[in-house]
Amino acid sequence: MVKHKKQRVTVVTLIGLLFAALCWVSFNFMDSVQSSLWENSVKNILESTTRGASLLQRNYLKDLEMLRMLSLELGSGDSTDADRIRDRLKLFLSGAGTLSALVFEDGTGYLDNGLAVTLNSEEQERVRNLSEKSGLLFPQRNRATERRTFTIFTTVDFRDGRHAYLFKGYNVETLYAEYALSFYNNTGFSYVISPDGNIAMRPLHPASNRTLSNLFEIIGEGNNDPEVVESFRDSLQRGKSGVAVFDDGNGEKVVCYVAMPEMAGWYVVSIVPNAEIMREANVIVRQALLICFLGFVGLLAAFLVYARMNRNYRKEIHALAYSDTLTGIRNFQKFREDGDELLNAPGAPKYAMLSIDMLNFKIFNDVMGYAEGDALLKAFSRVLERAPGKKVLTARMVADHFVALLSYEDKEELREYCTFLARAVDAFIVSRRLIFRQELRVGICCTEDSDAAPGVNALLDRAGIALQAIKVKGANLWNFYDHSMRDGIVREKELEARMEKALADGEFQTFIQPKYWLESRRLAGGEALVRWKTRKEGMLSPGEFIPLFEKNRFIIRLDRHMLTSTCRLLRKWLDEGRHVLPLSVNVSRVQFYTPDFVDAYIQIKDEYEIPDGLVELEFTENMFFEDISRLSFIVGRLKHAGFRCSIDDFGSGYSSLNMLKDLSMDALKLDRGFFRTAQDSERARIVVRNMLNMADELRMLTVAEGVETEEQVKFLETSGCDIVQGYIFGRPMPAEEFDELLASADLA
Ligand code: C2E
Ligand code: MG
Ligand code: MG
Repeated sequence: MVKHKKQRVTVVTLIGLLFAALCWVSFNFMDSVQSSLWENSVKNILESTTRGASLLQRNYLKDLEMLRMLSLELGSGDSTDADRIRDRLKLFLSGAGTLSALVFEDGTGYLDNGLAVTLNSEEQERVRNLSEKSGLLFPQRNRATERRTFTIFTTVDFRDGRHAYLFKGYNVETLYAEYALSFYNNTGFSYVISPDGNIAMRPLHPASNRTLSNLFEIIGEGNNDPEVVESFRDSLQRGKSGVAVFDDGNGEKVVCYVAMPEMAGWYVVSIVPNAEIMREANVIVRQALLICFLGFVGLLAAFLVYARMNRNYRKEIHALAYSDTLTGIRNFQKFREDGDELLNAPGAPKYAMLSIDMLNFKIFNDVMGYAEGDALLKAFSRVLERAPGKKVLTARMVADHFVALLSYEDKEELREYCTFLARAVDAFIVSRRLIFRQELRVGICCTEDSDAAPGVNALLDRAGIALQAIKVKGANLWNFYDHSMRDGIVREKELEARMEKALADGEFQTFIQPKYWLESRRLAGGEALVRWKTRKEGMLSPGEFIPLFEKNRFIIRLDRHMLTSTCRLLRKWLDEGRHVLPLSVNVSRVQFYTPDFVDAYIQIKDEYEIPDGLVELEFTENMFFEDISRLSFIVGRLKHAGFRCSIDDFGSGYSSLNMLKDLSMDALKLDRGFFRTAQDSERARIVVRNMLNMADELRMLTVAEGVETEEQVKFLETSGCDIVQGYIFGRPMPAEEFDELLASADLA
């Protein structure tokens, strides 16, 4: 949980950082794009302005030149030759939109339309003030045309010594219509100004600032740095061209000014609102930002989709890793994690671990089919979680083995839960009309009874021990763990740890118990019985380790060891040329499932070249409940290879007479329990006698095991038993002792 929260915080932080980085990059990008676009636009405006200025200046020079030429022409004549003067004026200067005149120093003169003119005093004053021989005049309202007029002039020196001025006036508006520049949909215009900022020419367009008469009026209105304004004024005075940005109170204006040195230092000035220049840049920037933003949103969406898919994928993996595929409940790994958490929580209540097994589930599967088997497991897993009034942690370990962990106050609750489970299974069987009943076995270990630190593994080990104990003990539904059970397990573990080395060190020794013909009391042979001669505990008898070795399958190697040792003994006697009697060895039922069992046994017999009939294999009675046709096949091959075969412990379990019919065994060994009661009960005596008769008729030798008393001997004698093996005639003894017994025996 905490891990996930941390991850989420990390992801959100990363996205935040990414977004911030993107904003930063976008901002810088926007800034650099804007400034480069702005610079570009301003450069264009400046270029246009420069072009406009040079055109205006070129045409001015051309007109002035023309005026000078006319002045030379007029000067070659007399000032009194009015006709000639009028004629020349008309010929060279008259034209639409212009007004030209020749004015003498006394204020009189001629217009280009031939009329005589006399300047008023103000005009005369102006003419007198002209300091240059030729040039231009700042536009003024013309008295005759009532229009603002831009005038160029030059002096005329007549042949007769008189001086005059030749003026050519242009209607400013008409003139400037040709040169005026406009920018950005007439939001920006160009003006012609004198170096002190007075506007000489302005465009005709109504949107141009018509009321403006001096450029510094605009600049002065805004909140501009006086120093910047001053340096601009200085630039104009010094005939420098350039770009400036001013705020006229109506937003920023970009001012591009280009000097015209030939036109008295006048300037062409283009004034364009900065916002208009930026508008274009902004469109591009906005589009770029939009693309960036969409890219980010796309990335974010892709990331979210990925995160979602990843989460689902992880959920699936989690489900696979932590749940049982068949039943959907927890698997053991998850059970252990959750269980350990519960058990180790502070103030945890009493908990019980239940290890639950179904008896004969394998047979249920075989008889009812796997579909029914699966259905039962699924139904059971659901029932398992429904402990009345309790929360139960459950898992399926393997196949039909379940575990459950639940809290309790009184152990009675646990017994009730077991009964509830057993009833639920019964109800399932009944509801599906199944003929095969299914029983449960539950091993329980309570935290209060456990001798280990709280933890799923330790509790489960102990619940398993309790379960194992019922399987051995009988038909109880449940069994509670107690300490004594643990001791047996510890002992088993200890023996298990030592067994390999013990076999290698020869600690497993062969004892032989003699068998005697009942009739003659002569030695008939012997049975090899294993003894474990330990250094610490002395001699261990088979009952202490054979069940363990059958569980861990070590018995397979031990049995082969016993056969080998028996064959070696027989070989020794044969080599010594002695009279030899048959010896029997025990075969564990575990061998039945070992594929190479028969081959291995034949190989050992052949290795020691043991003649047929000298080695007898004893199969315990309960082995005959396995697959009888397989057993019959095994016995057939062994007999064919020269082994004698016998049934051991007959009568100790559920004896089946049927098996005597199906298997051709050489001997029948009656368990001592079989005739122990015979001395007291007439019925038992009848059974034993008939049994012996039947074996006789089936040509089997009969061997009575565990004979301890004279009464038993007598009874067996009268009942027709062939051979006796029991303490009364001889206990199991070391092989060397039996060797001596054999040597001294009367075998004739
Ligand atoms: P089993 O094959 O039925 O062997 C006979 C058992 O009865 C022997 O016990 C023997 O000592 C005991 N016995 C013989 N006469 C008397 C008597 O008069 N009174 C009493 N009370 N007992 C008598 P042991 O040697 O303790 O062996 C027990 C069982 O262990 C054997 O029963 C056999 O099933 C198994 N066993 C012994 N050695 C081996 C072995 O090498 N391999 C296998 N698979 N099992 C073995
Ligand atoms: Mg035996
Ligand atoms: Mg026996």
